[in-house]
Amino acid sequence: MKIAVASGKGGTGKTTVAVNLFSVLQNQEKASYVLADCDVEEPNAHVFLKGEHQGSENVTTPIPSIDKDKCVYCGKCAEICAFNAIMFVKPISHIQVLPDLCKSCGACTWACPYDAINEIPKKLGVLNQYKLDKNNLLEGMLDIGSPFSVPVIKELKKKTEDYELVIYDSPPGTSCPVMETIHDVDFVVIVAEPTPFGVADLKLMIETLKQMNKQAGVIINRSTSDNNLIYDYLEQENLPVLMEIPFERQLAEQYSNGLLFVEQSDIYREKFENLFDSIHQKITGKPFYFR
Ligand code: SF4
Ligand code: SF4
Repeated sequence: MKIAVASGKGGTGKTTVAVNLFSVLQNQEKASYVLADCDVEEPNAHVFLKGEHQGSENVTTPIPSIDKDKCVYCGKCAEICAFNAIMFVKPISHIQVLPDLCKSCGACTWACPYDAINEIPKKLGVLNQYKLDKNNLLEGMLDIGSPFSVPVIKELKKKTEDYELVIYDSPPGTSCPVMETIHDVDFVVIVAEPTPFGVADLKLMIETLKQMNKQAGVIINRSTSDNNLIYDYLEQENLPVLMEIPFERQLAEQYSNGLLFVEQSDIYREKFENLFDSIHQKITGKPFYFR
């Protein structure tokens, strides 16, 4: 079972929901659960879950390197590159790979008739593994300055394949890294704020999910007494509100101190257990029994 926690914009409380939802599963007998932090530009689930770091591995991608001794400056590699990642200036016999534009498709290596191109691994980021009480936290972290989140997320998701249940903390927004995270999940929990900006971003997310034919529900974070705007929109879209988290100083303080709501209050533990149960029912048609 795969569940993604997503949001139309950053700072809505997506990670708060993901870590609290995952934490209510910590005491279950089955240990085959994992939280994968796919917010690779700024992963912070480890701040809340406080696992023991077990190890890291690099994520790399092959980037072409041109052997100037073999190159005859025919320009075939630049011609075939659909991403303009090879600069070729024939009159001065200049050829150069632009690694930040390269998508590692391998076409130039295939096209070179003189075997003048080698592929060199370039580091994009790391995958970190943390051991929690019974389950695991996996985290992707993009290198500073690296523009390629998607390959890091792809590698991270490969590591989750053998788990029975995966919760993905998605990157914010509706761009390619988000699509890579959510394209194969069973359910998307969208976290949104009840402000005009929050609703505008929520609309973008919901339009995207409709095109992907994904089952989804919404959590209203920093909820106030005036949630009409978001409720009207959700009613129109026939989408369920899974939970409301009120706009309260105490919750903001717990968040700032890296504390889990479900460990601070039985009311929140129950709320998040009910949340998981309702998602489980929407995916499987059956309730989930907590031990
Ligand atoms: S690997 Fe693909 S994207 Fe990169 S330079 Fe070669 S053709 Fe262009
Ligand atoms: S295709 Fe090969 S030989 Fe031709 S310019 Fe590119 S690297 Fe050089």
